[in-house]
Amino acid sequence: MICLGIEGTAHTFGVGIVSSKGRILANVSSTFVPEKGGIHPREAARFHSAHAGEVLREALGRAGITMEDVGLVAFSMGPGLGPVLRTAATAARALSAFHGIPIIGVNHCIAHIEIGRLTEGARDPVTLYVSGGNTQVIAYDAGRYRVFGETLDIPLGNCLDVFAREVGLQYPGGPKIERLARDGRSYIRLPYAVKGMDVSFSGLASEAVRRYRMGADLRDLCYSLQETAFSALVEVTERALAHTEKREVMLTGGVAANSRLREMVRMMAEEHGARFHVPPPELSVDNGAMIAWTGILAHRHGVRMSISKTQVLQRWRTDQVDVPWRR
Ligand code: AMP
Ligand code: MG
Repeated sequence: MICLGIEGTAHTFGVGIVSSKGRILANVSSTFVPEKGGIHPREAARFHSAHAGEVLREALGRAGITMEDVGLVAFSMGPGLGPVLRTAATAARALSAFHGIPIIGVNHCIAHIEIGRLTEGARDPVTLYVSGGNTQVIAYDAGRYRVFGETLDIPLGNCLDVFAREVGLQYPGGPKIERLARDGRSYIRLPYAVKGMDVSFSGLASEAVRRYRMGADLRDLCYSLQETAFSALVEVTERALAHTEKREVMLTGGVAANSRLREMVRMMAEEHGARFHVPPPELSVDNGAMIAWTGILAHRHGVRMSISKTQVLQRWRTDQVDVPWRR
């Protein structure tokens, strides 16, 4: 069976095509980059609907198949930006209804974990998922993926992007901050906010901006911002690992591209004798293949949805989803 997965939660509109054996036949996407400022949900949705057709055609072409060969359509049902979710869902419903193919809505955060389990051979990891829109420490327990820690305000990627924007760096801020941080020399004390198992980044972002306006060196600030934010996340991930006694740690999401963050998470995992996994960049960022693969897992374990039950869920939490394939 072949599943076509449609991703659309934020910047990226993606189509992935995956076989039930877990072979990724195509993984194509197009990403909305705002001219200035942050992402406007309706503008992103407009971009996605304008590009959906070509992304879909390219994915089918690369996989060398037609819609006739597709046995299941999966889409990102949440969490994400409302207009963006609705655009992807509309595309999925249209394909499902027109071609008479079953449809399944999948949870975006869980899809990030499942694609890593597929391609990296991670079996039961504690996952640190860090992106522009999400920051969670997740591990499986008793039928569901449980959230062991998360941000209380803005996600890590957003913290980096907001700081970058305020100091005149263009979106995406993460890679630029990483480059500048390499030349940072001295650590500037910034608010380190771990509250129980949760983290908070909005005070950190505003203090870093305030320090910049007071004349602090940008390279030192980038370095200090990274060290502070990453340490907080590694602390929480480490505690989740110690508590669950799992043997693997996975890092994923757009911010997983950061080599300093990888280094810190890897060191922590090694100290606990746990294996460390990071999916390759094209599978760490938002992508259609992860949606397709999670659709296959759900379908194989009896999950069924009628089109009338595919309303998107903007705040669909990771721990609200039954995952029968993990039992
Ligand atoms: P996503 O939300 O998964 O599409 O990922 C986008 C986010 O990842 C943005 O917030 C980027 O700033 C961030 N990002 C991308 N590359 C890096 C990097 N090398 N270091 C830190 N953050 C990054
Ligand atoms: Mg994501």
